[in-house]
Amino acid sequence: MELTEVFGSNVFNDKVMKQRLPKEVYKALRKTIEEGIPLKGDIADVVANAMKDWAIEKGATHYTHWFQPLTGITAEKHDSFISPAPDGSVVMEFSGKQLVQGEPDASSFPSGGLRATFEARGYTAWDCTSPAFLKEDGSGNVTLTIPTAFYSYRGEALDKKTPLLRSMRAVSRQAIRVLKAFGNTTSERVTSTVGPEQEYFLVDKKFYMQRLDLLLAGRTIFGAPPPKGQELEDQYFGAIKDRVSDYMHSLDAELWKMGITSKTKHNEVAPAQFEMAPIFDTTNIATDHNQLVMETMQKVAVRNDLVCLLHEKPYAGINGSGKHNNWSLSTNEGLNLLEPGNTPSENVQFLLFISAMIKAVDTYPDILRATCATAGNDHRLGANEAPPAIISIFIGEELAEILEKIASGEKISTRGQQFVSVGVDTLPVIPKDNTDRNRTSPFAFTGNKFEFRMVGSAQSIAGSNVALNTIAAEAFDEIASRLEKAKDKNSEAAKIIRDIWKKHNRVIFNGNNYSEEWVKEAEKRGLPNINNAVDALKAFVTEKSFKLFEKYDVLSRKELHSRFEIYVEAYSKQINIEALVAIDMVKKQILPAALEYAAFLADAADDLKSVKGPAAIPEDMLKKLGIVLTSAYKNLAKLEKAAERSQAIRETVKCAESYRDLVVTAIKNLRVDIDKLETMVPAKTWPIPTYTDLLFKL
Ligand code: ADP
Ligand code: MG
Repeated sequence: MELTEVFGSNVFNDKVMKQRLPKEVYKALRKTIEEGIPLKGDIADVVANAMKDWAIEKGATHYTHWFQPLTGITAEKHDSFISPAPDGSVVMEFSGKQLVQGEPDASSFPSGGLRATFEARGYTAWDCTSPAFLKEDGSGNVTLTIPTAFYSYRGEALDKKTPLLRSMRAVSRQAIRVLKAFGNTTSERVTSTVGPEQEYFLVDKKFYMQRLDLLLAGRTIFGAPPPKGQELEDQYFGAIKDRVSDYMHSLDAELWKMGITSKTKHNEVAPAQFEMAPIFDTTNIATDHNQLVMETMQKVAVRNDLVCLLHEKPYAGINGSGKHNNWSLSTNEGLNLLEPGNTPSENVQFLLFISAMIKAVDTYPDILRATCATAGNDHRLGANEAPPAIISIFIGEELAEILEKIASGEKISTRGQQFVSVGVDTLPVIPKDNTDRNRTSPFAFTGNKFEFRMVGSAQSIAGSNVALNTIAAEAFDEIASRLEKAKDKNSEAAKIIRDIWKKHNRVIFNGNNYSEEWVKEAEKRGLPNINNAVDALKAFVTEKSFKLFEKYDVLSRKELHSRFEIYVEAYSKQINIEALVAIDMVKKQILPAALEYAAFLADAADDLKSVKGPAAIPEDMLKKLGIVLTSAYKNLAKLEKAAERSQAIRETVKCAESYRDLVVTAIKNLRVDIDKLETMVPAKTWPIPTYTDLLFKL
């Protein structure tokens, strides 16, 4: 098949709907998708039937309501289409009711107290704004997969999609108000868009299977640095090896079938690290797609005797993985609100939207940071790695200069071309392509979008986009309210830009975000620098956060509390797993190997007793080994104790703090000894694959 035929062949997309639905039904469904008008029962029946026929023709036997519980991964329960007929045979059925609502047995998903056991039910509701599709497994089984929202009996969101949809509605409403205030009468909706770049590592499956830490914790807890790391910078954008290329090819094929626009692929900075970037879509569809991307990356890897590591920091000493969340806003007519325009008035509007984002980010850096807070991401944020935990915005020198001049009421000359004063009907030509990229910024304006680079590679991008949409909505709301009241819109716009710049320009930083000076400078500017997930998550449960999310009907106080509980608990669980894995590996694999070698050295010393010179060598080696071994043994005991103490703490936050302060440190200390041992014990005795195996033998 041609690629153009393969692409989207497993999606119940607009083309298929048009072909298969009666005209009136198609129209009604489009209205629901575009404007959120509720779908009538009889129409749902027709859609369901068409969907079923299409799916069965393509080999499906089952359907599933696919949803995104707060675990961060997706969930599905498969039901077959069969329904008993009176004559004892079966017919294939799928009703509108089955399409629209489901009731999975959801009692084992985390709800953070939102669901008492007596109302343990959870409901799924069809999200028709994200198209249904077919999922194919490795053996060719096909399932009709219906994206759904997941909520409790009382309508509380138990998932990541519900608040995302709510936040999209909020940002659309407020952005439209700004546009209307500027005399735009044609735009009806504004959609937040995102293109998430996904980083990942590949490792040979046979090595992976021998590493309990990779298998159970997703990262190497031990591992001495290999003789070669990423210092030669020979991997980034380097030629892709055949084996990896084969993998990427199969991955693309699978993604394309599901309508996922996998576009760019390349080697990343670290050895065995890669990236895939899709073409952007609505924040809702892009989030669904990114979940599928992560899942498919892992599945396809296994089929190729590889394993795909999505952890933020699988290996110490080389780059970790993140997601670059490229976010923007676009009207239903396709106008990108974060792209400079051709006319002065378009540019006033552009500068207003940029200013709004500056205000939003400077007001809520804590919320943005909280959306990226996981145990895995702690290894990146605040650990001398890209990006830092301090949130600042890069907008480039030119844009900063324009805003600065508007703020000070100065005439503007950009690159000597135009001289204008703002507040009247004139504005400089704004450079369209902002090539002056800053790779170190956590929040960079890249010409027509903002690139939020803090999101962890294993995380759902939903949370960050919920936050971006909502903080943007609030800033637009305030701007719209001012503009609506003003007689002279342009001069009010200039005032708004000035006020925002004066109050919030502290968040602008165009320099090197990795430098020590920036940490000090940011502190002077009063920008928060939170280096651990537990503290970062606390931003969700402040009055400021409740007020913001409640005002725009995105998340209630209760829903925020439940998320906080679940994420903090997830942190503790993750660190606990790491502790148990570390203990297990040391006790069952590493100590026995090191002791075996110690015994060998002792024997050698004994055997060589009569040979004066050489006998001193094993003795000396044994002595050195003994020191490290003893230290490792002590640190093992300390880790066991720290884990036990933390496990015993009932209160969620205190427990997580204990894991962070005691257990994380104990694992690190133990690692120092174990990594030293690795350099002392012979390769044939060392029980687990080394960094060289994992990183360079793809
Ligand atoms: P790079 O950042 O490497 O230069 P691009 O600028 O081409 O790459 O795009 C990076 C990502 O940003 C891609 O996923 C792309 O689809 C996405 N992107 C481009 N325009 C937009 C937009 N208007 N809204 C959201 N994402 C966008
Ligand atoms: Mg990029």
